[in-house]
Formats: sequence, structure tokens, C-alpha cells
Amino acid sequence: MFRRDKVAVFVHGCFWHRHKGCSRSTMPRSNIEYWRAKFAANLKRDREKLSELKKLGWNVVVLWQCEIEADAAKAARRVHSLLTRVRSRSA
Ligand SMILES: [Zn+2]
Repeated sequence: MFRRDKVAVFVHGCFWHRHKGCSRSTMPRSNIEYWRAKFAANLKRDREKLSELKKLGWNVVVLWQCEIEADAAKAARRVHSLLTRVRSRSA
């Protein structure tokens, strides 16, 4: 969180937050109904949290676990470029 700039950074685990098209976003083989409900609740909470923050004027960036593991520097650059944009806007 960069409070002063109203920039919020979330790191989402691909499995728990259902990263679309990601190989880590697997579906467990047993208790499928349980997992479906659990994942649906997670996604709903994500959506609500993000839209609430945006409504309050926050800039939100979501980084995926696989993205960070593949290229942490690139993920950091995404945060940095958002911060730069936000700061130039308010300057
Ligand atoms: Zn992923």
C-alpha cells in the first residue's frame, strides 16, 4: 500500500484467486462442490474489494503469483509505472 498516492497492490495466489488460463488455477478432484463455492466466494470478495477501493479513488494493481515468480523485476516495474503515472497526475 502506498497510502499517500492511493495505490494499492495486491498479490493474488493463482489457485485461490482463479487466475484465468493459468496452469496453477487447477480444480481439485474431490469435493468439487465445496471448492466451487469457495472459489466463487473468493472471486466475489476480490471484485467487491477492488470496486470499493476504486470508488474511493484508489489505483489498484493486481499481481499474480505466477507473474512474480516468472519475472519479479517486471512485476515490480508494473507497480513502479503505476506509481509514476499517479504521481505525475497529482503533481
Ligand atoms: Zn497464474
